[in-house]
Amino acid sequence: MDMETSIQYLPGVGPRRAQLLESELGVRTVGDLLHTYPFRYIDRSSITPIAEVYPDLAQVQVRATVMKVRLFAKNGAELPPDKLKYNMVARMSVIAADNTGEIELVFFKGVKWMHERLKPGSTFVFFGKPAVFNNHLNIVHPEVDAPDNFVTGVLSGVYTSTEKLKNGGVTGKVMLKMIGSALEGVLPTLRETLPDYVLREKGLVPLNYALRQIHFPQDQEALSKASYRLKFEELFLLQLSLLKQKYIRSRSAQGLKMPRVGEAFNICYKSLPYDLTGAQKRVIKEIREDMMSGHQMNRLLQGDVGSGKTMVAVLSSLIAVGNGYQACIMAPTEVLAQQHYANVSRYLAPTGVRVELLTGNTGTKARREIHAGLQDGSVGVLIGTHALIEDTVQFHALGLAVIDEQHRFGVEQRARLWAKGFAGVHPHVLVMTATPIPRTLAMTLYGDLDVSVIDEMPPGRKPVQTICVGENKRHAMHNFIRDEIAKGRQAFIVYPLIFENEKLDYKNLELGYEEIVKAFPMPQYKVAIVHGRQTPQEKAFNMDAFAAGRANILVSTTVIEVGVDVPNASVMVIESAERFGLSQLHQLRGRVGRGAERSYCILMKGQKVSKESKKRLDLLCATENGFELAEEDMKMRGPGDLEGTQQSGLPITLSIASLAKDGLILSDARAYAQLILDKDPGLVLPINAPLAAELRRDKYTVHDYSQIS
Ligand code: ADP
Ligand code: MG
Repeated sequence: MDMETSIQYLPGVGPRRAQLLESELGVRTVGDLLHTYPFRYIDRSSITPIAEVYPDLAQVQVRATVMKVRLFAKNGAELPPDKLKYNMVARMSVIAADNTGEIELVFFKGVKWMHERLKPGSTFVFFGKPAVFNNHLNIVHPEVDAPDNFVTGVLSGVYTSTEKLKNGGVTGKVMLKMIGSALEGVLPTLRETLPDYVLREKGLVPLNYALRQIHFPQDQEALSKASYRLKFEELFLLQLSLLKQKYIRSRSAQGLKMPRVGEAFNICYKSLPYDLTGAQKRVIKEIREDMMSGHQMNRLLQGDVGSGKTMVAVLSSLIAVGNGYQACIMAPTEVLAQQHYANVSRYLAPTGVRVELLTGNTGTKARREIHAGLQDGSVGVLIGTHALIEDTVQFHALGLAVIDEQHRFGVEQRARLWAKGFAGVHPHVLVMTATPIPRTLAMTLYGDLDVSVIDEMPPGRKPVQTICVGENKRHAMHNFIRDEIAKGRQAFIVYPLIFENEKLDYKNLELGYEEIVKAFPMPQYKVAIVHGRQTPQEKAFNMDAFAAGRANILVSTTVIEVGVDVPNASVMVIESAERFGLSQLHQLRGRVGRGAERSYCILMKGQKVSKESKKRLDLLCATENGFELAEEDMKMRGPGDLEGTQQSGLPITLSIASLAKDGLILSDARAYAQLILDKDPGLVLPINAPLAAELRRDKYTVHDYSQIS
């Protein structure tokens, strides 16, 4: 038997259970089974006598015998145990006792399965959070384990299960048995996956020890060592794979060599109305070094909203121009492209570099002229939406492609930009994002890109005071906006637009707009409105009115989320704030606090706000640090759900390590992987043969995402 053997050959498994395990847990081979780790351990030494259970304990484990089981309908009436229809049951109450006292266990879901299982007289181990309800101690939806799972050692693993598995006879006990025989079968001949020197230098326990202890720990210490070894290995191999990819590319991918800074750069730099922040200077230096190196640049620039990424894009573009190449900046929306165009034109005015704007709405004649200018090289910098990746757009010599708000673009769109190189050489690529990605996640998602971070705000940025209020404060909110307008300020009012119910969303927006117009009547007040159903002209007209200060209030959908800059605006009201994600809320808030003395973000929450949404809103009120919010968001929701990363396409399937919790191990693993690759970039040395072999496995086959991100 080895790790590739099908689990159906394990004693007691057979084809039927094997199929069940594959469809329910994706476990096909003995190796899959051994890499399915317990998500929790029952510590037999920590059974709490019921008399010592208090509601303020976080979680307890009691060992108790079922005394009485009762089922209740929705209206509270007790249901007779005979003639039972489970779909009528709203709640199941179980009284269980040990020799010190009684406790109630309550189930609202999965009642059928529990009812059949929790027969009076049988004993179980219940695990959960104790609470008090009507003066009675209870645990709602405890985990239930048969006490005979307590056969091996003090700590006993609890595995993910499903109703189907349980019904198919694959109980926790059977799972442990299968794993036990799998271990016996493979451990004697198990090949160690990490080289000896890695185990030694990193103080890791051998694989066979780790696998045995993770499933059947002899004590807490052995378990910690086993878990550390497996987490390290998983993250280390992933980083090794990503970084190796990067090495291969940086040695093979020829890049356009841009040795000069150029005159345009210097002129622009000198005429800037402000000093660059230290972070901006550092990032520009990193980019310059990449562009000078002769290797193709693939850099991700992360910077919180308002950190000044545009300036970095402008100066980088001028490096390309100064070396006889062209640059383009692609923005996700028309509004944003226009704003970039306005800003960039202003910055470039003293340099004489020609800037053009190309979007889906550029007229035929203008388009023809721009195309000509791109081909003869007279257009230095092209700004646009995805219109600029169309095949008809041909550059004379594209040297740099900047992609703003990269998560808004699809993989294919980015690939097409990449293909517009010069003489068969890809342009340098700079992708910018204001969606702060936690460091650990960035290391994994973009592990093969270089990452620059602007971690410093331009001076003068004022903190934004954030509050969360309900409907009863709507009047006060209007009054507050009136006060701000009286001070000469402006306000944003944003409505959610969630495509599942577009009609309703627009209705909300329209009603909201009417309400605002009523509360802020002409001619004293002027209210502009921007949303996705307007023509580009209408949109531009309204945006301009607000940007130029002709309108006091801008009512909009989230089209203003990215980029838009109106320093005079001091209030951001977000309607139905609970419907937005954390990082989206943060982006919206970033629209204010750019100029006014004091700025405010008012989160209007609806009637029904889930616990989780409440937590999100509270967090937003508590901090303005985008990275902190992203870290917290990831902890709350898990990395797979993180906004802006679903689209990135890199599936992260880690079986034991957690990007949210194992950041330190990840950093260590990455640094160590780097060290090994510095000495042996191709992993061709005999001592690294085990690593090369591991990287050939599917799990660590990382596609070259840098080419498309
Ligand atoms: P983002 O990173 O969100 O794209 P922007 O590039 O739009 O940020 O910059 C936000 C605002 O800060 C703009 O008004 C810009 O002119 C201003 N800004 C950028 N860099 C600096 C700086 N070093 N000092 C002062 N203001 C700056
Ligand atoms: Mg921006």
